Amino acid sequence: MQTRFVVILGSLMSGLGKGIITSSVLKILDMYHYNVMPIKFDGYLNFDCGTMNPYRHGEVFVLDDKGEVDMDFGMYERFLNKNLTSDHSITGGKLFSSIISKERRGDFLGEDVQMIPHMTNSIIGQIKGLAKKENLDVLVIEAGGTVGDIENGYFIKAMRQMAITEKVVFINLTYIPKIDAVGEQKTKPTQLAMRSIMQLGIKPNFLICRTSEPLEEKTISKLAMFSNLAKERIIDDSTYPTIYRVPLHFIDQHFDRLLLGDLDLANAKIDEKMLKRWKGRVAKVVSPAKRVNVAIVGKYTHLHDSYASVREALVHAGAELDTGIDINWVESTDIEKEGARKMLENAGGIIVPGGFGQRGTEGKIMAIQYARENHVPYLGLCLGMQLMTVEFARNVCGLNGANSTEFEKNARYKVIDILPSQVGVKNKGGTMRLGSWKCRITSRNSIAYDAYKSDVVYERHRHRYEFNNRYRKPMQKCGMLISGVTQDNKLVEIIEWKGQFGVATQAHPELKSRFEAPAPLFVSFVMASLAEKRPE
Ligand code: GLN
Repeated sequence: MQTRFVVILGSLMSGLGKGIITSSVLKILDMYHYNVMPIKFDGYLNFDCGTMNPYRHGEVFVLDDKGEVDMDFGMYERFLNKNLTSDHSITGGKLFSSIISKERRGDFLGEDVQMIPHMTNSIIGQIKGLAKKENLDVLVIEAGGTVGDIENGYFIKAMRQMAITEKVVFINLTYIPKIDAVGEQKTKPTQLAMRSIMQLGIKPNFLICRTSEPLEEKTISKLAMFSNLAKERIIDDSTYPTIYRVPLHFIDQHFDRLLLGDLDLANAKIDEKMLKRWKGRVAKVVSPAKRVNVAIVGKYTHLHDSYASVREALVHAGAELDTGIDINWVESTDIEKEGARKMLENAGGIIVPGGFGQRGTEGKIMAIQYARENHVPYLGLCLGMQLMTVEFARNVCGLNGANSTEFEKNARYKVIDILPSQVGVKNKGGTMRLGSWKCRITSRNSIAYDAYKSDVVYERHRHRYEFNNRYRKPMQKCGMLISGVTQDNKLVEIIEWKGQFGVATQAHPELKSRFEAPAPLFVSFVMASLAEKRPE
């Protein structure tokens, strides 16, 4: 089948949830059994997200193939339940570096290289090449940023150019504000935005409207008139208790039928079983039978987007267990000031997620000690595993002064240390232990085996430091279980406490958690947080 394209643009402002819209469109097409994949374009000149600050930009997402990509990729994978590759991420940095190396090679001999047509042709060629390679029925392209930005202008122009020869459906996401004093949904900003899109030669097929409350009839009529669209093409995207409800909300508005019609796929039938399964999970998120309180002890907790995958993995595990998760975001520096008990008293379970840099690490260690001493279920993710090692070394094995050399270069006991292969690394981009790694579970009598029910597991990594093998024996002697190692046994991957729920992994299992396939360690952790009995 000839590949069709859906291009999703945003107008007015960022932060409206274009990633959720793209993911919902992907899921809807998946429910019709089309082979569908996304492409995300980001206009920044970074080659990838590897060197970006999660505090400014949100979490850096990691793919199996080591790609360090925008957090929207997490959203796509969570909805679609497919593994994506770095080819699906196009950035300004990648485009410019490739066009300049082509020019140096002499690909454009005699020509002056221009945005149009050289850059636009190169973008279209890349997109069509991927569609062909993966034999896609539909490719959904999310153009990052908003229409009018200097960074994405040439990309949007390329999409317009692509529509001359290919079947392309355009969707514009906009925002409809409601001014308190007037109590009216205002359409003027969207009217102006539509004008600027149409000036680019693009007439959107749909206008998706982000609003806090459902679109009013009057608003719809006005938007339809000013956008040259039939009223049913103005789609409501008002706030719902869970993002996983969005595809269903679109289907309720018959968006799926109209979209398929525009793609010349009007005869397609939805897989009712898939739809029912999705609805069932959404219902469990919206009205769960049980609730549990989980504390996430981190450093960027006031920017929850820097832990988006951890938050979503908890939602997925909760949906599996019919449990609502109340997340308590705890700043680790507050624990240093206030003490662990005060900050963590209500926690049914405690997570220390990934992180970099020394600030706040002692507070995280205090949280882990509190969990161990009070039998509160603990899940450590990457840095959370390294600090579980430090805590155990100091407080159980009596290795006073144990630390990671990331935080204390000359620590007395370097229980977490940099790999020899990392010592000389100067370039910061793409040089950590990245991507999917095979892990061997060493004991069937372990939390890890109970969770994964497999002797071999694959998880994604992003870190430079590792468990120092010199301390394997001493730590095991004090009662730590090393329950996962790399295939060659050279690196420790999973550690556990014995006799209580405490497990931590050098990997980031949250990156592979999907709405319909939750990460096993998170499911076990939530189950333990519901059940664990504390000593009196
Ligand atoms: N800072 C640690 C390292 O580089 C942990 C990284 C992480 O948690 N992703 O090894």
